[in-house]
Amino acid sequence: MKRVITRKLFVNVYGLRVQKKTFCNDAAAKLSSSKSGQCSREPEEKQGSTTDVHQYDVAIVGGGMVGMALACSLANSPLTKQLSVAIIDSNPALGSRDWIKKEEPPDARVSTVTPATISLFKDVGAWQYVQQHRHAYFDKMQVVWDYTGLGYTRYNARDANKEVLGCVVENKVLHNSLLSCIEDTDFQKTIYPSRLTSMTLHSSSSSTRVDSTSGPEFSTRGSLAKLELSNGNSLYAKLVVGADGAKSRVRELAGFSTTGWSYSQNAVICTVEHMIENHCAWQRFLPAGPIALLPMGDRFSNIVWTMSPKDSSDFKSMNEDDFVKAVNHALDYGYGPHPQSSLLGTGDIFSWLRADVTLSANERFEVPPKVVKLVSERMVFPLSLRHANDYASKRVVLIGDAAHTVHPLAGQGVNLGFGDAYALSRVIAEGIAVGTDIGEVSLLKKFEAERKPANIMMMAVLDGFQKAYSVDFGPLNILRAAAFHGAQYFSPLKRSIISYASGDQRLPLFS
Ligand SMILES: Cc1cc2nc3c(=O)[nH]c(=O)nc-3n(C[C@H](O)[C@H](O)[C@H](O)COP(=O)(O)OP(=O)(O)OC[C@H]3O[C@@H](n4cnc5c(N)ncnc54)[C@H](O)[C@@H]3O)c2cc1C
Repeated sequence: MKRVITRKLFVNVYGLRVQKKTFCNDAAAKLSSSKSGQCSREPEEKQGSTTDVHQYDVAIVGGGMVGMALACSLANSPLTKQLSVAIIDSNPALGSRDWIKKEEPPDARVSTVTPATISLFKDVGAWQYVQQHRHAYFDKMQVVWDYTGLGYTRYNARDANKEVLGCVVENKVLHNSLLSCIEDTDFQKTIYPSRLTSMTLHSSSSSTRVDSTSGPEFSTRGSLAKLELSNGNSLYAKLVVGADGAKSRVRELAGFSTTGWSYSQNAVICTVEHMIENHCAWQRFLPAGPIALLPMGDRFSNIVWTMSPKDSSDFKSMNEDDFVKAVNHALDYGYGPHPQSSLLGTGDIFSWLRADVTLSANERFEVPPKVVKLVSERMVFPLSLRHANDYASKRVVLIGDAAHTVHPLAGQGVNLGFGDAYALSRVIAEGIAVGTDIGEVSLLKKFEAERKPANIMMMAVLDGFQKAYSVDFGPLNILRAAAFHGAQYFSPLKRSIISYASGDQRLPLFS
């Protein structure tokens, strides 16, 4: 049975008058923010049909971390906070802000967020919510050491005059913090706990001006995007944002082509425990792919271990003790000896670089803390690279994994997505400031022009790393080791690698 609440809100945002009508089904009413004023459980009236159509300025398809980052940014900017926004996602996590239990061990799904992301979260007021939950800053990384025993590189935040290199946060904490941040504003959002099934885009190029005096069937609706959802709801929007992940339905329905490939690798992820607290991020490149040990606070760390699909199913199903042994083997002596401080164990061929040394240049190789226990389920993710050839067309724009999926070896995927979300929010605000239709392709292409080069560059760098480490061949191993040894001692390169990985968007040595 459909329950419907009708509330008319008239908003005037820089001359853009919008009539917002919201009709929520039972579940939507449950999930909507009580502060939004759009959907509450009373007063209610019955509505016999599912064909009532609601109209929004922005429909965000996908309320994952990136979709919620966009909503949060819109909610906190003076020019966009009055927009009416629909968020479409069946993920139950959108239903409550208070479900994270601190006493439970951390989830297996975590993200390493960069200093640039931390700044963005602080700008929109979401970082204070992250700080109420478990999170682990780190200022040291022993990022890479070649499994042949020939090379390693250590990084220290102070090499690049930074306080931290990043922070490891559970995905559910990032997501919930964004949701809490939105709910503490008066943002007009409606959550549809459903999935997008189809989308109608009209080719009319007339710029849309929605007239608040017209009735429910707005005369201009023909030029808006119409979305149909799996629960039978339909809605119209001036702008549809595809934040619906790597298998984006929006991308497919809008006809955006993609370029990409599968890595024929899976990542096994889980949370583990040590006897002592881990304060450093560790990564070791092995013949089948890298293994990373990321600090999670207390005595917990997160494992992201890349391997062949066959190995991933073996490692997922093996008993816990054997798995812990295998992890320690992969992180320490297994596959090869500890690297030496000087290349090939002889004279220091990089001594000429040492005039301008970073703090970490003289740091010795360290063995990561031993894992003593597995404390979460093991999850397996297939890995691929995919990039949408366009991010924007009239009324549709893609952000996050819907636009680009990268290898997780440097923990950059969601950081790129957050960069997209905040850039799009700025472009929407610019459009509102000058009275442009926010679904106009010329406006949305500004967003694409800003984000595409940055995303493609990062994808190319990560893909290059992935490929360079997929070949196990003697001379190449030595070259690779030399490259990492060079990075250990060549301070300008090291500083710019840290800046780039921190989200500063300048390529190593090219700026
Ligand atoms: C093993 C692994 C480790 C990683 N580690 C890191 C890291 O350390 N740092 C980092 O920056 N990145 C990391 N990433 C990448 C990061 O997880 C992704 O980039 C990020 O989750 C993408 O967020 P998103 O919101 O764009 O998409 P998603 O997280 O995929 O969210 C998409 C949302 O859309 C919804 N949805 C899907 N289809 C529909 C539909 N038809 N209708 C409505 N809703 C829909 C889904 O329910 C979901 O909530 C890692 C990835 C993997 C696999």
